[in-house]
Amino acid sequence: MILFPHSQNDVGLGGEHSGREPGSRLMGKVYLVGAGPGDPELLTVKAARLLAGADIVLHDSLVSREVLALISPKAEIIDVGKRAGKKLLTQDEINSLLVSYAETREKIVRLKGGDPSVFGRAGEEIEALRCAGVPYEIVPGITAALGAAAAAGISLTDRRVASQIVLSTFSRGSDAGAMDWGCIGSTTTLVLYMPGADYTEVADRLRDGGLPADLPCVIVSGASGPQQEIRWSNVARLAKEEKLPAPALLIVGRVASRDVAEIGPSYWSGEKVDQVLPRDRVV
Ligand code: SAH
Repeated sequence: MILFPHSQNDVGLGGEHSGREPGSRLMGKVYLVGAGPGDPELLTVKAARLLAGADIVLHDSLVSREVLALISPKAEIIDVGKRAGKKLLTQDEINSLLVSYAETREKIVRLKGGDPSVFGRAGEEIEALRCAGVPYEIVPGITAALGAAAAAGISLTDRRVASQIVLSTFSRGSDAGAMDWGCIGSTTTLVLYMPGADYTEVADRLRDGGLPADLPCVIVSGASGPQQEIRWSNVARLAKEEKLPAPALLIVGRVASRDVAEIGPSYWSGEKVDQVLPRDRVV
């Protein structure tokens, strides 16, 4: 692999990955850009600059209208996202588009909600770009977990009660397999992306995973956007909560409470789950 110095048109700072061969037909570079959770003020300065100078932008449906409004009027804009659960383009088609646009355009922005590397399928796009020798750069964004915690006004870690954060999903669309419950303990904050339409199923899985029935959780919908909604709950009550509009996520753990200090480590025991609330009363 041969690395070329940054051209004047490049963003010029670290993080570029190039596999461009001498004499190749490629002229462009692909920027995998995080659009953040919705509020355009939560976009990075670098992302805003790239959007203003892009030749073409391929974006997901999760990207807010306010962020899309920052794209250069000269740029071509392609929505490659999902509409009502139906994919407009397959992942392979998107990968091929990115590679082929690199032959004809200079600045190609692949714009993804939140951060590109968190449940964003960036891995597959990176692999396709690498295989085709297309230079690329990742521009991080504020992932929904951070946007949601800020919206709820809570801290995801807390030296009194939470020392690790696990970003996960139960979504069937995720290929990564089952949850590793072994890494979830009384000082874990679990953030569940794509909780789906059925909180009963999520609640069951949390209880099957050994989480106490009275462990707090908070559902955050449309974090940082105009439709933002926040619902405080706990593992036992979750099943009965009214569904909030997508996109929504769930923060589960002792920090997911407005009174963190009250939720002691003693809440954490498999036995307590059954004592507090028998399983058959939950559903
Ligand atoms: N790459 C994105 C996540 C894509 S998966 C990121 O880093 O945020 C899509 C899921 O992200 C949604 O189903 C939802 O669970 C979550 N999500 C995205 N934006 C959100 C928002 N503004 N508020 C709440 N959850 C959001």
